[in-house]
Amino acid sequence: MKGPHIMSRALILVDVQKDFCPGGTLATARGDEVAGLLGAFQLSHPQDFDAVVATQDWHIDPGSHFSDSPDFVDSWPVHCVADSDGAAMHEKIHTDRIDEFFRKGQYSAAYSGFEGTAVSDDTPLVDWLHARGITDVDIAGIATDHCVKATTLDALKAGFRVRVLTGFCAAVDTKTGDRALEEMHTAGAELL
Ligand SMILES: [Zn+2]
Repeated sequence: MKGPHIMSRALILVDVQKDFCPGGTLATARGDEVAGLLGAFQLSHPQDFDAVVATQDWHIDPGSHFSDSPDFVDSWPVHCVADSDGAAMHEKIHTDRIDEFFRKGQYSAAYSGFEGTAVSDDTPLVDWLHARGITDVDIAGIATDHCVKATTLDALKAGFRVRVLTGFCAAVDTKTGDRALEEMHTAGAELL
C-alpha cells in the first residue's frame, strides 16, 4: 500500500543563547543580528513548520570543555552555565512559539543538538522528531562552525532531509564558518 508522500518539517534553532551573542562570554559577531532575524522569521513563517524546537548548551560540569586558557577548538571560556542568564535564550527569540527545548552538555562537551534531551521529559531530539512524523528539518543558529555543523551532520545521519538557513547562522570565525557550510553541503544538506 502506498500513501501520498507526506512531508513534515521542523525548525531547529541551535543555541541562540545570550552567551553566544554580543555581551556574552563566548560571543559571535552576528549573534544579535541572527537572533533578531530568527525572531522575525518565527512570526512571519509559522505556517512553514509543523514543529519548532530549540537547543541549548547547558553546562553543569563539562570538564575540559571549559578552560582558563581556551584554545577555541576543544576548550572554551566558561559559557552557558545551567540556569545562568547567559544560558537563557536571546530576548529576540519568541520562546512562547517553541514547542520544546533540548538541553545538552551538562557533564561534557556536546556540540550537536541531537545530544540534547527534552526539558519536559528527557526525550532525545531524534525520538521527539520521529514521534511527530518529522521528515525534513530546517536548521539555523549559533555557531555555524560548531553546533550548527554538528547538528546538521547528525540530522543527515539520522535520515532527515536538511536545509541550512545560512543567513540565519552566526559563525565564531567567518573562514571556519564558510568551510563548515561546505562540509554540510557535501554531506547532503541544502544551503538556503
Ligand atoms: Zn559549550
